[in-house]
Amino acid sequence: MSTSEYREGSLEAPTRHPINWKDPEFYNEEKLFAEMERVFDICHGCRRCVSLCNSFPTLFDLVDESDTMEVDGVDKKDYASVVDHCYLCDLCYLTKCPYVPPHEWNLDFPHLMLQAKAVQHKNGESKLRDRILTSTDKVGNLAGIPVVADVVNAVNKNKLARNILDKSLGVHPDAIVPEYHSNTLRKRVKKYKPVNNTAEACEKTTGKVVMFATCYCNRNKPDIGEDLIRLLQHNGIEVKLVEQEQCCGMPKMELGDLEAVERSKEFNIPQLAKVVEEGWDIIAPIPSCVLMFKQELPLLFPEDEQVKKVQEAFFDPFEYLMLRHKAGKLSTDFKNSLGNVSYHVPCHQRVQKIGMKTKEVLELVPDTNIDVIERCSGHDGTYAVKSEYHDISMKICRPVVNKIKQAQVDHYISDCPMAGDQIENGLKDGSHAESPFTLLCHAYGLN
Ligand code: SF4
Ligand code: SF4
Repeated sequence: MSTSEYREGSLEAPTRHPINWKDPEFYNEEKLFAEMERVFDICHGCRRCVSLCNSFPTLFDLVDESDTMEVDGVDKKDYASVVDHCYLCDLCYLTKCPYVPPHEWNLDFPHLMLQAKAVQHKNGESKLRDRILTSTDKVGNLAGIPVVADVVNAVNKNKLARNILDKSLGVHPDAIVPEYHSNTLRKRVKKYKPVNNTAEACEKTTGKVVMFATCYCNRNKPDIGEDLIRLLQHNGIEVKLVEQEQCCGMPKMELGDLEAVERSKEFNIPQLAKVVEEGWDIIAPIPSCVLMFKQELPLLFPEDEQVKKVQEAFFDPFEYLMLRHKAGKLSTDFKNSLGNVSYHVPCHQRVQKIGMKTKEVLELVPDTNIDVIERCSGHDGTYAVKSEYHDISMKICRPVVNKIKQAQVDHYISDCPMAGDQIENGLKDGSHAESPFTLLCHAYGLN
């Protein structure tokens, strides 16, 4: 390539290539290491992403401490430490990198890390702890049994038991682990009588919503799911849960277990595609799960027409409410103002490229001031609970925590309840992170 042909960064909109994970070449380690060396070399020359997570500082330290001070001086065995710090938040791809496709350098750092994780998993290198933590359905089904839930919750709050968990399984004693509820969202939803559906179709929305409950909201944060149901019903929107569901597959994807992702997809997608055909839209209360259906499954299964159908009908909840508002179909009969609110935008919502819909909706409430924090909380699914990464995750969260401390707000919220827990853990002042659904319910006078 001549210098005159060279362009610093792409001028076109980024695109994403499907993930070719069924091709045996995807697992060719020689090619994988060659591609990692190529990409790491570009990153070493660029270093824009140094502050995003711990993958990049790990890579740059390896380079700087090598004999050559170049990527060729790094032992390939050490590449795994870069991979281990990546939790696939996608921020480097979407917010920093000028070399993503269609740029000729064709750099997709998160998907390269995913490929490396898939190879590690295929080689049997996944830790038992990680296999347990990502088995959200199995753990939830067991821990959510009445009595068992109480025991699990008691163990999680017991210092001695947590120290044992740290030593035996590698779950950090200071990490907030979620409480389990035997009175799940699936059980609670029965008390909500169907509303008279007064919502008309408008702005790409049908006004009828099927909620993918998510394992997290079903067993760990059912209150949040209830608040979302209340909000929708308050706006005359008919809402029901999908009849049966399994985990969306995001935790298994982060582990590199793509076959487990496929099994979840085969359970969830036919049911979701059926409700779309029946005229329902779909939402989920957790940004990572929404992203799974909007972006990751379509890239992992590009030929699957049902996946595409579900993708097109899947909305972030506030994206949905804002679309209704644009058509004049959102109730603005607010009873309470919200005051000063610090709003943490989770990475998996930022990368949906929908804009700040949560902020836009909450700002409809009079006397409400939303201060946005666009930094990673460092929780990222399971990263913050792992003994070896917890302290780093809290360091990643520190700028978010400091901003909230300085702002002296009436409320702090995140669309992601796990990020909320992480911020709460950083603040350690007895305050609690809230859900934007809960805040909007409060504004409507519903709770
Ligand atoms: S995807 Fe996120 S965690 Fe992974 S390297 Fe990029 S910024 Fe870091
Ligand atoms: S991912 Fe892109 S922006 Fe980030 S360090 Fe590498 S080349 Fe630079």
